[in-house]
Amino acid sequence: MRLTELFNSRRFVLSIEMFPPKTAESGESLKRSLLSLNRFHPAFVSCTYGAGGSTRGQTLDWCQWIQQTLQCPAMAHFTCVSSTVTELSAWLDEAWQAGVRNIMSLRGDPPAGQQVFTAAEGGLSHASELTALIRRRYPDMGIGVAGYPEKHVEAASMDSDLQHLKTKVDAGADAIFTQLFFINDSFLKFRDQCSALGIHVPIVPGIMPITDFARIRRITAMCGSVIPAELSNRLEAVKEDSAAQFEIGVEYAIRQCQQLQAAGVPGIHFYALNKSDACERILQALNLPVA
Ligand SMILES: Cc1cc2nc3c(=O)[nH]c(=O)nc-3n(C[C@H](O)[C@H](O)[C@H](O)COP(=O)(O)OP(=O)(O)OC[C@H]3O[C@@H](n4cnc5c(N)ncnc54)[C@H](O)[C@@H]3O)c2cc1C
Repeated sequence: MRLTELFNSRRFVLSIEMFPPKTAESGESLKRSLLSLNRFHPAFVSCTYGAGGSTRGQTLDWCQWIQQTLQCPAMAHFTCVSSTVTELSAWLDEAWQAGVRNIMSLRGDPPAGQQVFTAAEGGLSHASELTALIRRRYPDMGIGVAGYPEKHVEAASMDSDLQHLKTKVDAGADAIFTQLFFINDSFLKFRDQCSALGIHVPIVPGIMPITDFARIRRITAMCGSVIPAELSNRLEAVKEDSAAQFEIGVEYAIRQCQQLQAAGVPGIHFYALNKSDACERILQALNLPVA
């Protein structure tokens, strides 16, 4: 089922994001996590597209596993990194053949060792171009794009970033999935700014439960998401106690999701980091509508 149908047919579009694991053992652990999370009836499970190229080929394999084993629609993430338009088109054909009907259309980060994103020769520079390519080649493909409530790290200003987001939507995106954030007011302001610009597709908040403070600090240092001082101080105080960090992170995410639900979000996209324990606790507390 493609994205627009999911948003039209469900009261709440819950999605879980995973990444292709590096070892067979972590693959088995991921399968157990996804089977467990599937009890909460996600509308779809998305699989990331390896930044450095190492796990890239696995994205479609995992999408097939999701659709066959979980009987749940999959969304394949897809980036412009190091690929020509011919290569991008060939991968899209493969995805369609594999039964994938939803793509997260992304530019991608600069490959390791490079500071600035440079399009491959004969490739694409922005996610809006990839979105247009997908929409042209597969008019019936569901397309998600990334949005940044606290601005993309490279963007010169929030205004220019929002204009570029509008270009992506106009190129054919069906929905926006946001970068992880911890301050709901940032998301709500972003939603208003999108609306003022004439962006009317569903905007789904991206939530990453904090279970390991050191890891989240590394992630937020890269993507620019702000950890509020109050939360950061609480986590800093228990930095030697992983169980306490987990509890604080889960409790914070539950409160964050409850407030977002009350603000009428159309769904939540969980960055589950291939684990199920935190998301399960959060989903049990939220008691979301299943269909
Ligand atoms: C939900 C989600 C899922 C993700 N999944 C993956 C994944 O699977 N694999 C992966 O490698 N990365 C993933 N990322 C990270 C993403 O690739 C990076 O954030 C990347 O730096 C930007 O990608 P984008 O699609 O937002 O790019 P774009 O929309 O192209 O924007 C990138 C930057 O360029 C600017 N820009 C856009 N268009 C123009 C233009 N026409 N002229 C000038 N400037 C412009 C924007 O303002 C922004 O600063 C994901 C991010 C999110 C939020």
